Amino acid sequence: MEIIRLPALSDNYIFLLYDSQTNNAAVIDPADHQPVLHKLEQLQADLVAIFNTHHHHDHIGANQKLIQKFPHLKVYGGTEDKGRIPGQQVFLQEGDRVEFAERSAQVFFVPGHTRAHIAYYFPPITPDETGELFCGDTIFAGGCGRLFEGTPAQMVDSLCKLRNLPDNTRVWCAHEYTLNNLRFALTIDSQNPELQKRFARVTAMRQRQEATIPSLLGLEKQTNPFLRWDSSSLQLIAKTTDPIKTFATIRGMKDKF
Ligand code: ZN
Ligand code: FE
Repeated sequence: MEIIRLPALSDNYIFLLYDSQTNNAAVIDPADHQPVLHKLEQLQADLVAIFNTHHHHDHIGANQKLIQKFPHLKVYGGTEDKGRIPGQQVFLQEGDRVEFAERSAQVFFVPGHTRAHIAYYFPPITPDETGELFCGDTIFAGGCGRLFEGTPAQMVDSLCKLRNLPDNTRVWCAHEYTLNNLRFALTIDSQNPELQKRFARVTAMRQRQEATIPSLLGLEKQTNPFLRWDSSSLQLIAKTTDPIKTFATIRGMKDKF
């Protein structure tokens, strides 16, 4: 399974999964049809599935057009998103599995950004492979999604599930927000050497207009303040030792940043 990153809209990424054995493709969160159709044409591939993480327009914007072009494709999304994802046929919940290219993804129910958000995790098949996590707007590189429909407690619970995955998991989030996220992170975690190094690296990458996605979950665990609600330095900033209150305070600060 090859993963192809397609930039879309102002700062979205669409991920195309491609199986060169069968010439089949699947797409995660198609924000826009043009880059997807262009790449499918180049590959001469058939689109067999849309995997949506949640119902926001910048994640489902191309569903309708892609269904028109590939009427046999299947649209997957969370059970709780019923009625909000155009063309949805498969209603997924925690623990379900979806198959593509002889890989099988595990579905996580991760409410918080929306009340119905799900994530898809393809575990490695062989020990030298990496796991692939498609987490939509739940974890961002250096950040996390805003809480539009969920509570801090729900989001911490959701982030906890994803944080439990192996360190070498590649994190394919749906937006290029990394530099701004790290700028914020430095305001509350300035003494974190891994964060300082990451900020320097990402600054240089963005100057060269390089994508910072995928990131690695191990690095997120060290540098992403929204996965560090149990670190004493962030609890000091939030003036509490309660993990959920720590998360809520930091999320609130980021909303105003
Ligand atoms: Zn969203
Ligand atoms: Fe989004």
